Amino acid sequence: MTDFNDNCTKLNGYLERFRDTGILNRIGGQDRAGGNGWFETLSPVDASVICNVAHGVAADIDTAATAASDAFAAWRDMPATERKKILIRIAEGIEARAEEIALLECWDTGQAFRFMSKAALRGAENFRYFADQVVQARDGQHMKSPSLMNITSRVPIGPVGVITPWNTPFMLSTWKIAPALAAGCTVVHKPAEASPLTARVLVEIAEAAGLPPGVLNTVNGFGDDAGKALCEHPKIKAIAFVGESKTGSMITKQGADTLKRNHLELGGKNPVIVFEDADLDRALDAVIFMIYSINGERCTSSSRLLIQDSIRAEFEAKLTARVNAIKVGHPLDPATEVGPLISKEHFDKVTSYFDIALQDGATVAAGGQAPQGPGYFVQPTLFTKATNQMRIAQEEIFGPVLTSIPFKSEEDALQIANDTAYGLTGYVWTNDLTRAIRVSDQLEAGMIWVNSENVRHLPTPFGGVKSSGIGRDGGDWSFEFYMEQKHVGFATGQHKIPKLGAL
Ligand code: NAD
Repeated sequence: MTDFNDNCTKLNGYLERFRDTGILNRIGGQDRAGGNGWFETLSPVDASVICNVAHGVAADIDTAATAASDAFAAWRDMPATERKKILIRIAEGIEARAEEIALLECWDTGQAFRFMSKAALRGAENFRYFADQVVQARDGQHMKSPSLMNITSRVPIGPVGVITPWNTPFMLSTWKIAPALAAGCTVVHKPAEASPLTARVLVEIAEAAGLPPGVLNTVNGFGDDAGKALCEHPKIKAIAFVGESKTGSMITKQGADTLKRNHLELGGKNPVIVFEDADLDRALDAVIFMIYSINGERCTSSSRLLIQDSIRAEFEAKLTARVNAIKVGHPLDPATEVGPLISKEHFDKVTSYFDIALQDGATVAAGGQAPQGPGYFVQPTLFTKATNQMRIAQEEIFGPVLTSIPFKSEEDALQIANDTAYGLTGYVWTNDLTRAIRVSDQLEAGMIWVNSENVRHLPTPFGGVKSSGIGRDGGDWSFEFYMEQKHVGFATGQHKIPKLGAL
């Protein structure tokens, strides 16, 4: 209880300034009001107003894109070692304010403190990791041909737009912004309207670390005006987007006229396949962690459990007992495992699946109810006796809701796993090595973990196939997005040049 009370007291301290001044946009190193006044951000814990937020619109995006464009050449040309130092100082700044970031994120998003404290520190890791790559990021190759010495190098693409969602917003923002800055791009960030607090803290940290004005600009607002304007802006060369698949499709359309390069990290309906020969205790822990942590508001969540018939009854019985024991509570309570969902709209969407499951003939083995408000809490829920054709197996619910589907054979499991519009992650639990190789080879997903939950390793490629996205983050793949390849050929002698009109 002491930790909980301490967290509440500290949060109140951190919120005071936001209550006083609201959250302004930050453009070219200056606070700017939004072109359309203010909107309110609410806490999912009790639906109370946290503070006012500048309501940015197309005109604000234009000012920010111009600031990012004006700042680009100097940032691009700053010696790599200098840019590296700034990125490391940003990481240090995040670490110094990690508790503040975690508490604000909990209050703004409903995520539990136990996960958000780690997410804040992962934001710092993202900056440190890409800071380490800054110096080599522009290096290329030397490819000799008979008459030319060909060299390649990479150059930053220019000012980019970063559009982020409300689930773990701080961590996801750093995941995009850190490699963009490391590449030498300048950024206009449009955070999710439902979770604007920590984006403001990030731009403050970045500027305090010495990031020149205009290199990172933050414009708050809604997707259909500020977000759309960012995608359409001619000075913005690329959009790094994380969000829903249907929004990803709009991002592509909106960027068509300006031939925007888009990186889309979208939704998922990820299978976790548990075979009878697996280490079932570890599989159980991982199955639970990958759908009920982060409130199930997680793109990589294993929202479909494919369980082999022979072990189904026992596995589901243990699963049900554990799901019923998950601690739902106030996000600032360090003991809380599941907090409230982000918003009323999202709460209505998630809870609508309780009826849909029953109508489609599934069984509600755990949860299936929402405690009395005012916050947007739902009970961790498990649907059993489901088929893969049901809506609860096909649609991304994006809450602490797991659908269990039985299978008989390996072929059966693969067919069910791949029978989805999405393809972000897959998880395979088996102690049969050749089966693990076969199944992971045939699973249609961008990322697969065998006998493991999702353990992120920053040098590895992160991204999805099918409706789960286009492009990869992580390692050098991030730089491929934020940079252009440039080829220069130097003649090594007097090779024959075709002579036209010279008879
Ligand atoms: P969303 O698509 O509704 O919103 C994401 C962002 O896009 C917000 O900032 C929003 O304002 C903006 N936006 C909305 N319409 C826009 C438009 N027309 N033009 C430009 N911007 C627009 O997503 P959400 O509900 O905030 O986030 C949840 C979704 O994000 C889930 O589908 C989840 O799977 C996905 N997600 C994917 C990954 C991944 O790495 N694949 C990671 C996290 C979340």
